Amino acid sequence: MATPAQRREALKEVWLEAKDCTRCPLAATRTTVVFGNGHADADLMFVGEAPGANEDRQGLPFVGQAGKLLDTLLAEIGLERSQVFVANVLKCRPPGNRDPQPAEIESCEGYLFRQVELIEPKVVCTLGNFSTKLLRGDSTGITRVHGEAEVRTIGPRAVRLYPLFHPAAALYTPRTLETLRVDFHRIPELLAKPAPDQPAELEIPEVEPDAQAAPAEDELEPRGEPERAAQLGLF
Ligand code: URA
Repeated sequence: MATPAQRREALKEVWLEAKDCTRCPLAATRTTVVFGNGHADADLMFVGEAPGANEDRQGLPFVGQAGKLLDTLLAEIGLERSQVFVANVLKCRPPGNRDPQPAEIESCEGYLFRQVELIEPKVVCTLGNFSTKLLRGDSTGITRVHGEAEVRTIGPRAVRLYPLFHPAAALYTPRTLETLRVDFHRIPELLAKPAPDQPAELEIPEVEPDAQAAPAEDELEPRGEPERAAQLGLF
């Protein structure tokens, strides 16, 4: 298991890789890669769909109206954004906020899986259809599975996966908001449970010392753009 400092360094390396990503055509239309932000040691992680216009401009997830609702619901269960980690299935905004396309999800999912692997959350709340389908690994829609927690393995990590309606869907539909609120208020109960048993660890062969040399200091610090590193918001 990584120390908190090692975890931050590892997350920062994933961000350094993601911030100039050209794995899919969204690289041509985005303003900023929205990697996600929050607490690197969070027990609770949220996964939305994709950045919208505000997120694309600011480089941070859930900063618009849906984000405000997320903050309100968090406050209702005694939590702040700085205590959780928030990310999306796609790190770049689809033009006009259209739905993510399968090829885009496939290109991007590795970043999300690495985030879950490194942060090691106990509970992962998927927000809406896209993250629910991706992390449950099947096509069942959110209306059928919201509010039902289950243990799922994401990459090498077993988590309690907890599908929720997307806050944007609740903004203008009172019944959806009520359902989201009821489901959301069960999060503390899930956090109080022990973390699920982890899959047996793979035997990792010993590596010759010089083959695992630490990355050079200047590979970790994004030269000339320290303010961008702040988007990570790793507390
Ligand atoms: N909707 C999302 O799914 N993600 C964001 O970051 C903002 C809105």
